Amino acid sequence: METAIGVLVGVIMVGVLIAFIYQVLESIVQEIVDFIEHMPIYISIPIALIVVGLILYFILIRFSWVQNMSNKPRYVICPYCDKSILFTLDWECRYCGEFQGVVRAVNKPCIHCRRKSKNIWCSSCKKEVLL
Ligand SMILES: [Zn+2]
Ligand SMILES: [Zn+2]
Repeated sequence: METAIGVLVGVIMVGVLIAFIYQVLESIVQEIVDFIEHMPIYISIPIALIVVGLILYFILIRFSWVQNMSNKPRYVICPYCDKSILFTLDWECRYCGEFQGVVRAVNKPCIHCRRKSKNIWCSSCKKEVLL
């Protein structure tokens, strides 16, 4: 019997909590809608364009062909042997050991662990070159 009352009280409390959260969320959404509705058109249109542009950018950046487009072959000069080191390639991350899977500049953060490589290995003289 006591557990039944406990469960009942628990259900009521959760219900009250959900109702409260719902009301708060509703008023916040209402305020945002009000704000957008009363915004002058010369402000709302540029904001809408920027938001749509940003969303498109973040969607497109996920596709490898876009990443390949922005990763034209680039080189850095090795200070030890004067050879050109390819800077944009499918490199292996030294922190998580994963390959990028796409052609990607070495100074960009790793696709998997988001860490940046501080140096690059010269394939000719096998020395470490700081980026
Ligand atoms: Zn990594
Ligand atoms: Zn070198």
